Amino acid sequence: MTEASHDDLHHIGKRMTDRIDPAARSRTMAAIRSKDTKPEKWVRSALHQQGFRFRLHAKKLPGSPDLVLRKYHAVIFINGCFWHQHDGCKAAHLPKTRPEFWSRKFACNVARDQKILYQLKVLGWRVAIIWECGLKKKHRDTTLQQLVSWLQSGAEYFEIPVYDEFSDL
Ligand SMILES: [Zn+2]
Repeated sequence: MTEASHDDLHHIGKRMTDRIDPAARSRTMAAIRSKDTKPEKWVRSALHQQGFRFRLHAKKLPGSPDLVLRKYHAVIFINGCFWHQHDGCKAAHLPKTRPEFWSRKFACNVARDQKILYQLKVLGWRVAIIWECGLKKKHRDTTLQQLVSWLQSGAEYFEIPVYDEFSDL
């Protein structure tokens, strides 16, 4: 038996990819989303150190926010720039393969996130979105300080990063 050529492997790989239906893909993405990620741990430990107490992944709230601080009427989402399509961020590029599938998929993700924000607002929650690019090493301390200030401020909505300079990451 001869070794499979690169092309063969490519075709096999492609067939396997095609077999995954969109529903299965969403399940996979949901799994990725709910996993304890490093950026999430950074946020948790920073807040914990400063005496904030919170619940994790509150399933009863719209979008299962990553952190819930009841005392502050606040929820925090730590969003991956790719899956949640951080506007203007380099990490939010469209994959080269099956661009139409991905742009539809991403449009759904973004619409879903908007709906969740609205539902939380209606329920009286304050919402902070931390984009993962804002948690890169050189920005992390600033981001976490801003988050703490926001928690104490009582402002309704907060998104980090909000500055153009972050778009070049
Ligand atoms: Zn980003």
